[in-house]
Amino acid sequence: MNPKPSLLGLDYQDLLHICEELDVSPVHAKKVMGKVFRYAEFDLENIPDFPKKLLQHMQENYDLSLPEVVTAQQADDDTQKLLIRMRDNKDVESVLIPAEDRITQCISSQVGCAIGCEFCLTATAGLTRNLTTAEMMQEVMIAQRTLGEFPRNIVMMGMGEPLHNYAHVAKFIRMLTHEQGMALSPRRVTISTAGLVPAIYRMLDDDLPCSLAVSLNATTNEVRNSIMPINQKYPLEDLLKAMKTYVAARSRKRVLIEYVLLAGINDTMDDAKRLVDIAKDMGSTVNILPFNPFIGSKYQRPSDEVVDMFRNFLNDAGVVAVVRISKGRDISAACGQLKTEVNQRAAQRKERRGQI
Ligand code: SAH
Repeated sequence: MNPKPSLLGLDYQDLLHICEELDVSPVHAKKVMGKVFRYAEFDLENIPDFPKKLLQHMQENYDLSLPEVVTAQQADDDTQKLLIRMRDNKDVESVLIPAEDRITQCISSQVGCAIGCEFCLTATAGLTRNLTTAEMMQEVMIAQRTLGEFPRNIVMMGMGEPLHNYAHVAKFIRMLTHEQGMALSPRRVTISTAGLVPAIYRMLDDDLPCSLAVSLNATTNEVRNSIMPINQKYPLEDLLKAMKTYVAARSRKRVLIEYVLLAGINDTMDDAKRLVDIAKDMGSTVNILPFNPFIGSKYQRPSDEVVDMFRNFLNDAGVVAVVRISKGRDISAACGQLKTEVNQRAAQRKERRGQI
């Protein structure tokens, strides 16, 4: 086990601070940022005119290795699911989704998740721990190594609730969008939340440079309570108010609504009507996610006809709604199916014992 912290957890401020401590020019902080976060090159020796004492300090005190990729599965549609083993042997998954013009990476922010949504496979494992900023950055660097280029679109929709790991995620977001580093557009970095209301306000206060997606998934407290226990803590009216404040406070900023479609639970035309009102009120686009079943899940995926009807109803009412094609279904890389095989086996055992 390597006790050194990872270099990938250092942001521009941290690097400036190191330069100051070592009494070298701050220009070298910029050089490290460019080299590491723009070109994904870790060999600091090759940086021209790099002070020896800074090089030595970095090499002695920071780890430059990347965690092991235990498995890399490729789906028929070229989606890749990487199983990444962190230093403490905890596994997380990261998914690379190719599109015509750019690659999207779906990042995990926690090992497991504490939110307990009834339709989500990750939830069945509970929360083990938060990922650090460095570990999330390692996911990105591994993607870069795998693809030969950086993903240009990052969605925090992998394992975990990003707003439950606010400090590490916020630093990660700032590093992704930092002009000296990867310089991703804040529009191309999305935090997706189950609805941690106070953290949405915190994002606003901090002016976090990213987009917001909310997994609404229901339009009444009754249904939302039954599928997302977090709704008992932060009920729909509070969540909608936070979303509205977010939209109003940040001009030209939008909130994307995600809606998992569960057969017989939230897929009626009355649900669609209420969703239209909410989406119009927020000026939001809706992503419809037909439920992806997994072993032990108690819900069903609605038929394609119902999914189409639901989407058409929204579209006809003037709401932009797209059905998110679940890429990578054949390798369990689709939404809500992220959970390590080891945990999956544990879930299967539990199921056999009648615990789920
Ligand atoms: N915790 C965050 C991000 C992880 S979940 C959040 O809740 O947004 C990413 C998305 O996948 C969420 O919109 C969630 O509602 C959806 N999802 C979870 N399980 C799913 C499943 N089995 N089928 C389809 N979508 C699912």
